[in-house]
Amino acid sequence: MIVMKFGGTSVQDSAAINTAASIVKGRLSQKPVVVVSAMAKVTDQLLTMARAAGSGDRKTALDLSRSLRERHYNTAGELLHTAIFSKFHSELEDSFEALDELLRGIAAVGEVTPRTTDHVAAYGELLSSKICAAAFSACGLDAMLVDSRQCMVTDNVHMRAAPLMEETHARLRTKVRPLVEAGRVPVMGGFIGATKAGVTTTIGRGGSDYSAAIIGAGLDAQAIEIWTDVDGMMTTDPNLCPEARRIKVISFDEAAELAYFGAKVLHPATVLPAVQKNIPVFILNSRNPDCEGTRITARAPHCRNSFKAIAAKKRITIIDVAAPRMLLVHGFLRAIFEAFDRHRVPVDVVSTSEVSVSLTVDSNESIPALAADLATLADVKYEGRKAIVCLVGENLRETPGVAARVFSELTDVKIRMISQGASEINLTFVIEEDQVPQVIQRLHKVFFSDLDPEVFA
Ligand code: ADP
Ligand code: ASP
Ligand code: MG
Repeated sequence: MIVMKFGGTSVQDSAAINTAASIVKGRLSQKPVVVVSAMAKVTDQLLTMARAAGSGDRKTALDLSRSLRERHYNTAGELLHTAIFSKFHSELEDSFEALDELLRGIAAVGEVTPRTTDHVAAYGELLSSKICAAAFSACGLDAMLVDSRQCMVTDNVHMRAAPLMEETHARLRTKVRPLVEAGRVPVMGGFIGATKAGVTTTIGRGGSDYSAAIIGAGLDAQAIEIWTDVDGMMTTDPNLCPEARRIKVISFDEAAELAYFGAKVLHPATVLPAVQKNIPVFILNSRNPDCEGTRITARAPHCRNSFKAIAAKKRITIIDVAAPRMLLVHGFLRAIFEAFDRHRVPVDVVSTSEVSVSLTVDSNESIPALAADLATLADVKYEGRKAIVCLVGENLRETPGVAARVFSELTDVKIRMISQGASEINLTFVIEEDQVPQVIQRLHKVFFSDLDPEVFA
C-alpha cells in the first residue's frame, strides 16, 4: 500500500486532474490511497472570503464564492460525462449553498473566529476530493471518496489543530484499510480533520503533506509520495535561483531542517510520522512523472559536498531583550520563554550574550503585546522584515572551516544573528529580507557548482 498526495497545482484544473488519474492508474498494483489538496489558490481565496465576511463585507465574500463555484463547476463539467455531471452538479450546488449560508452568517455577526474560519477553509479540500473521486471513477478507477473528517481526529486548536495519532490511526484502520483491501482507491482531502465531537478543523497551511504522512503511518504504507510542481527537493527554491538542482536522496533529518526553515515543497511536520514508521517519502513532479524525484530516507549516502541545500524563511521578526543591570541571572531566560509561551509565539533562532538575548519569530500580530509583556523584564526592541537563511547538510558535522567559507562570501552583507544548530547539520543566520535572492544566488554559485553525481541530478 502507498499514499499518493497531489498538491494544489497537481489538481488545479481538469487537465491536471486527468494527469493525476493516469499517474494513479500506473501505480494500481501498489494499492494507492490518494490524498488531495484544494485546487491551487483556493485556500487563499476561502480565507479572503472568511475575512471579508468577518469585516461585514458580505458582497465581496459572496462574489468570491461565486467565482469559486464557477471554477469548480467548469472543472467538474470538463471531467465528467453529461449524465454523471448532472447528478454531481446538484451535489456541488448543495456544498456551495451551504458555504454561502455560512458566509452570510459570518457577515451578519461581523466577526470571524478561528472555528468558523476552519469551516470555510475546509471547503477547498472537501470540494477537490469530491471532484477527484468522481473524475477518477469516470476514467475507470474504482475510486471511493472518504471524508477526512471521519478519520483525521484532532484537538480543538482551530487553524492549526494537532492530530490525535492513536484515534486517527484506529479510524484509518477501520474506515480506509478495508477499502484498500477490497481493491478500491480511497480519495481523501488533506489539511482537514475534525475534533472528537465532530467539529471541522484544519491542521495548518501546507498541511496536506502532513495529512499524507499521517495516513501513510496509520496504514503502514510502503511509501509516501508527495506529487507537486517541481522535480523534487532542490538545492534551493528554483523560483529564487533557476540553477537549483535536484537532490536525488536526502536524509529525514536534513529534509526536516530544510522544510522547517522555508523549503515550502514539504510541510515541516511531514517527516515525523514517516520517521516513526521508517517509511520512505518521495517528492515527485506531476508535470514530469518520469523523473525519479527525491527520496527521503533514514540514512542518506555519503556526499562529498558540504551542503545538500539552502532554504530561506522570510517574514521574520528579531526581538532583542537586553537586561544591562540584571545580566543573565538565574531564572531570566526562563522568564523570557514563559512570556513567549503565554503569547503562544514559537521561537526559531536564539542567540545570547551576557546581557542580552536575541530571538527570531514569524512576524505576527501578537508581537506588540508580547513585547509589552517582555518590557516588564528588560529593555525590548523588535524589528521585522528579516529572513532566516539556513544551509543544511550532514557533512557540516565533520568538515572544519565551512562557516568561515560561508561568511567570507558575504562580507558585504549585514548578518544579524548566527546559529549553528544543535542538530549539527544546519548553519543558520539572519539577514534583511530584501537581500534573500542575492544571498541565496551567491551562496548557491559557490557551494553548488561542482556537485557529487551520486546525490545530485
Ligand atoms: P504543493 O501545492 O504541491 O503542495 P507547494 O507550492 O506547497 O506545492 O510547494 C512546491 C513549491 O515549493 C515549488 O514550486 C517551489 O517554488 C517551492 N520550493 C521552495 N524551496 C524548494 C526546494 N528546496 N526544492 C523544491 N521546491 C522548493
Ligand atoms: N490547501 C491547504 C493550503 O493551501 C493545504 C495544502 O495545500 O497543503 O494551505
Ligand atoms: Mg504544499
